[in-house]
Amino acid sequence: MKDNNCIFCKIIAGEIPAAKVYEDDKMLVFRDIEPKAKVHLLAVPKSHFKLLSEADGEIMSYMFGRIPQIAAQNGCDGGYRLVINQGDDAGQTVFHLHIHILGGEKLPIDII
Ligand code: AMP
Repeated sequence: MKDNNCIFCKIIAGEIPAAKVYEDDKMLVFRDIEPKAKVHLLAVPKSHFKLLSEADGEIMSYMFGRIPQIAAQNGCDGGYRLVINQGDDAGQTVFHLHIHILGGEKLPIDII
């Protein structure tokens, strides 16, 4: 379901632009607008979940199942880090569940 006030829902709907690298009927992957690493992608479910704690295991399993191939095809063949910020204490700023995919270089510990 779409949340009309959600920036990632607007990207999914094509209402605002993003540099998309992968899309299917359940998920979208696009480049972070303020990259914290040489490769910084965001994987989002097409359904709107504000938080990881609202998402179901099926969609998480689906996304994690596809991320290795998407990362490898986008310059993360040397490895990558996945990050989910859940809620205010973690610094979540966009309240549409997203998985950060960071790589393309040796990553410092405190990147995000
Ligand atoms: P978080 O702090 O985990 O909520 O991460 C939100 C991420 O979304 C940040 O890394 C932002 O740079 C990124 N972001 C915000 N707006 C956009 C946008 N329009 N297109 C791509 N990335 C975005």
